[in-house]
Amino acid sequence: MVKASFLPPNFVEDSFGHHISYLRVSITDRCNERCRYCMPEEEQKWFSREETLSYEEMLRIVRIGAGLGIRKIRVTGGEPLTRPGAADFCAELARIPGIEDIGISTNGTLLAKIEDGVTLAEKLVRAGVRTANISLDSLDPATYRLTTGRDLLPRVLEGIDAAITAGFESIKFNCVLMKNQTESEIPAIIEFARKKNALLRFIELMPVSTQEVLSSDNFLPVATAKALVEQTHGALTPLPEFKTNGPALYHLVPGTGQKIGFIGAMTNLHFCESCNKLRLTCDGKLRPCLGSFLEFDLLSVVRAGCSDDELAAFFRNVVARKPKEHDFRDNYQPNRKMIAIGG
Ligand code: SAM
Ligand code: SF4
Repeated sequence: MVKASFLPPNFVEDSFGHHISYLRVSITDRCNERCRYCMPEEEQKWFSREETLSYEEMLRIVRIGAGLGIRKIRVTGGEPLTRPGAADFCAELARIPGIEDIGISTNGTLLAKIEDGVTLAEKLVRAGVRTANISLDSLDPATYRLTTGRDLLPRVLEGIDAAITAGFESIKFNCVLMKNQTESEIPAIIEFARKKNALLRFIELMPVSTQEVLSSDNFLPVATAKALVEQTHGALTPLPEFKTNGPALYHLVPGTGQKIGFIGAMTNLHFCESCNKLRLTCDGKLRPCLGSFLEFDLLSVVRAGCSDDELAAFFRNVVARKPKEHDFRDNYQPNRKMIAIGG
């Protein structure tokens, strides 16, 4: 990867002084799981191949973004590893001057899959992917099935081991908090993350799916989760200096040195203060904020044959429209489900 220091300091800044340096690229809206909070239960209408950006189109967009200061890419979805060629795409991303850090968000089910004689995890590491964020809401097979709609916990556990063997620089587990479900599992998930030497983040449910699931009956605030952790593990020490390019607030578990993050999109009123992100959806919309209905149609512009300068101007305009903060708390209407945005 080519270091940013060799490039002109051409950073894009939003109206609130944030340097936008992080682009989440969703490469598919398809998934082999059916998480209750991410996609509705009814039959999905997937984007067709024509409606989806090709890898070449995505690479061009990232190249333009890198010229404006994008340094970190997280490849996501849907489940990114269901799209053929995902690891090769990551290898191409790593060759783009300016891109210094590539991560992947995955449900883990396909990390142990063998492709070209190696695991997909190994392929990703060889491609230059440094970090893997793996969803892990439950270690109980029945609860896992209830949440994800699939019996794939054993494959996820194999995937986690494949990721460890492959040698990602960092592995994080993401656990979405569900009331009357996560509470009893918190100690086991913490212990599992400690054993696997992974960072663990507890994530508040966000209103980016069906209303039935995102009700107060299911909502478990991060403050409650933190209090539950403290009941079993003792007082946590806040680590305000420890940041991993996201909004998680990390804490140290006494006695073990383990770090746990809390992502409180709904209850943390400072959540958006250091946001440095844009999102590219797989159907080519550039979204300045996960928690805003705003999105801008880059696919049409790219396919209309625009120049690189025009694309760069498009990027700048989207950054200029980045809201100060998300609308999650104010009747947020995302106009699409999480699975079609890219988490
Ligand atoms: N399929 C991959 C996975 O599950 O990690 C990547 C895409 S998924 C949309 C990215 C992250 O978003 C996951 O950690 C998932 O748990 C989280 N997520 C999805 N819907 C959510 C919601 N309504 N509230 C909070 N987090 C959500
Ligand atoms: Fe699929 Fe990830 Fe959404 Fe679950 S959270 S349905 S695994 S994209």
